[in-house]
Amino acid sequence: MEHYTALSPYLKRRFGCKVYKLSLSAGCTCPNRDGTLGTRGCIFCSGSGEFAASGSASIPEQLEQAKYILGKKAQGAKFIAYFQDFTNTYGAVSRLEPLFLAAMEPDDVVALSIATRPDCLPEDILRMLARLRAKKPVFVELGLQTIHDNTAQYIRRGYPLSVFDDAVQKLHVLEIEVIAHQILGLPGETAEMMAETTRHLGSVHVDGVKLHLLHILRGTDLAREYADGRIQMLELDAYIDILEQCLAVLPPDVVIHRLTGDGAKRDLIAPLWSADKKRVLSAIQKRFEQDGVMQGSALRG
Ligand code: SF4
Repeated sequence: MEHYTALSPYLKRRFGCKVYKLSLSAGCTCPNRDGTLGTRGCIFCSGSGEFAASGSASIPEQLEQAKYILGKKAQGAKFIAYFQDFTNTYGAVSRLEPLFLAAMEPDDVVALSIATRPDCLPEDILRMLARLRAKKPVFVELGLQTIHDNTAQYIRRGYPLSVFDDAVQKLHVLEIEVIAHQILGLPGETAEMMAETTRHLGSVHVDGVKLHLLHILRGTDLAREYADGRIQMLELDAYIDILEQCLAVLPPDVVIHRLTGDGAKRDLIAPLWSADKKRVLSAIQKRFEQDGVMQGSALRG
């Protein structure tokens, strides 16, 4: 039984074969780091994704590197070119557009995915995204993390919820799909608060959701707070309880891109149980079966 709309089978249905993401870098920074909004970044952010290819390489070279990392799995598969690290629309259109075009040009690249912030989507960037969308499907990933103001301030997100809602609406007008990131386990949030965030994502009709477990990563300000004993981490069982509550309030057509975290293992301080991803996913699956979890079950009737 499918307990939720999982990404991998969804992509297979949509594109007719196995689809993998190739992580690329556009060499952007972030307004939360370069001094525009702040210099220390979001409190949990270590800067870049684990698998981003070398940003100094050309896009064709980065695509090849990322395929090489996938190994045999890449044979006969299709790909999503995924600009993952930092804020990938934070730059001039004249620099970014050629990079995105190069990434989506190969025949085996079926879509483009761009991770960014909702406050970094000015009109000229939106027009660029519309041009890219005319070629292949475009996904924009937005790291909302929470709808709650106090938590947003604590994590130093740097924009209000209204900016996110507005961005989702503008992107949808351009037929660009939106994937929202939510972190579960942020300090001060109850399970009900987390489910409220997920419910909101459903109500603004995001197309996909990445549910991340809060990770403490080396070198972040959150790591300092953790070392001072100010942060409680979730245990696996409690995390699955929260996942179940969140999935219950999310419409079944929203694709679940992630059910755990994706922190760089070499930098992971806590919770260490999350490093064994296979074990975590198998525990989630087992509990979903036991509890008869169905995405959107709390929205029926
Ligand atoms: S999480 Fe994203 S928005 Fe926040 S500092 Fe890191 S790159 Fe910037």
